[in-house]
Amino acid sequence: MMLPITAQRAFTRLRRPRTIQSVSILFVLSIVLSFVGLQGWSVQQARSKQIETARVATTNMTRALAQHTDDTVRAAEVALVGVVQQLEVDGVEKDALAQALVLLRLTVEKTPGLDSVSVYDSQGRGLITSRSRITGSFNVSDRDYFRHHAATAGREVFVGAPARSRTSGRWILPVSRRINGPDGAFRGVAVATIELAYFQEFHNSFDIGRDGVILLMSGDGRIIVRRPFAEAQINSDASGGPVFQTYRTKGKEGSAVLTARIDGIERMYAYQQLAHYPLIVASALSIRDVLANWRQDTFWIVGVEALLLALLGLLGYRILRLIGERERAQIELRKAKTSLEKMNQSLERLTLQDSLTGLGNRRLFDTALFDEFHRGKRAATPLALIMIDVDYFKRYNDLYGHPAGDECLRRLGETLMESGCRPGDVAVRYGGEELAVLLPDTDVDGANAMAERFRHAVLAQAIPHGGNPVGLVTVSIGAAACCPGEDAASCESLLQAADKALYAAKAAGRNQVCNAA
Ligand code: GH3
Ligand code: MG
Ligand code: MG
Repeated sequence: MMLPITAQRAFTRLRRPRTIQSVSILFVLSIVLSFVGLQGWSVQQARSKQIETARVATTNMTRALAQHTDDTVRAAEVALVGVVQQLEVDGVEKDALAQALVLLRLTVEKTPGLDSVSVYDSQGRGLITSRSRITGSFNVSDRDYFRHHAATAGREVFVGAPARSRTSGRWILPVSRRINGPDGAFRGVAVATIELAYFQEFHNSFDIGRDGVILLMSGDGRIIVRRPFAEAQINSDASGGPVFQTYRTKGKEGSAVLTARIDGIERMYAYQQLAHYPLIVASALSIRDVLANWRQDTFWIVGVEALLLALLGLLGYRILRLIGERERAQIELRKAKTSLEKMNQSLERLTLQDSLTGLGNRRLFDTALFDEFHRGKRAATPLALIMIDVDYFKRYNDLYGHPAGDECLRRLGETLMESGCRPGDVAVRYGGEELAVLLPDTDVDGANAMAERFRHAVLAQAIPHGGNPVGLVTVSIGAAACCPGEDAASCESLLQAADKALYAAKAAGRNQVCNAA
């Protein structure tokens, strides 16, 4: 559907405020979303940074733990190498043992972490021990390390499973070495013990938060000692746990965020296998502890920002509403202006229109005559005028009545408008039953032609008129034209000429067109 141009403009005007509001909403929304996006990204970055810091911290802690454990076991090994060497050279006779005992006690005294060193014969019976008090005779033939050395000719130290000491009753980690006879036969075992409490003490020196973990386990995944300490966990199998599985799949040293099977807590773990012994250490910080500060900061930042955004949203909403209201008021104003203009136009039309015939009235004629005369003068174009008078109209009224006379005038007005008036022509009811047409840029011939067209059109209407000798309504027309640029020409002279011609037409018998002489 094609709308008229004015209607299209009005339509566009009506849509504009909506568009402005939508664009404003989109603008505010995109700012808010970008802000939220940026903030989300920066919060995420801060979180990653905290996790990374925890990874570095646990990795460093694990390296320190590995070093400490390695040093402790190595000290035990050094002590064992000394005593085994001495016994293999001097034999296990009484004198040799007494001499070895002196060395043992001195070594234990000077070596931190070393709890005791003992020597057992090939049957597992105690020969000497650095301990000052020995509670009865004891036998270690059932211990895993004893069985290992009895069955294996190797000279490497063996780190056994933690056990309760039969002499002190405390938990110890045995580190042992085989003693050979001159022929290489199994002569016994030297065992150094390290109290688990020694490791615990070192482990407790680290700040690992509420839910942190420090772990020392054997190469086959059994727990030796774990912080937080639980006696029941000593020697328990953790080979199926996430730390050992990560160690198995990812290598000797690494870090990962894992959830422990024991307590279901998510932690940042760093683990490392000792360089010289089949032991694994691990330390971990709980993710909840690690992120505690970040969470608190984020809570406040997000809270304050949400508040600011809410305020901004509220402000934006109010501004948008104000814009909407202003735009609506403007539309109303424009509408009011348009309808006022329309009213003005129709009022103006009314003041210039003849209500009976719909033609222009005398006021319009006077203004148009003046305007067209001066336009003709400027443009050097002719101006024509035809004056029309209904013949015997008085009689018509008398015969058919005044209302019929009015109807007849209305039809004549219609006929005049249909008789080839050009857009610039001004057709008016000059007064009573007289009509006039002002024809810009028209000479007398043009005026005659127009007049004749109308006269014939009136006849063609065949309006019965008993008072007219013709029997129908007829008109007499006077036509005149002038060149407004000529000195003698004036509006009045044109009017007089047309009037004169009209009289001439009347005088000549009516129902005809006459020109001004
Ligand atoms: P003619 O012009 O041929 O010499 O004769 P006429 O009878 O038409 O004479 P005139 O022009 O003097 O008469 C004009 C008549 O037109 C007088 C009046 O009764 C009638 N008349 C004027 N205005 C109106 C009108 O608005 N309605 C009606 N019904 N009649 C009108
Ligand atoms: Mg008259
Ligand atoms: Mg008349």
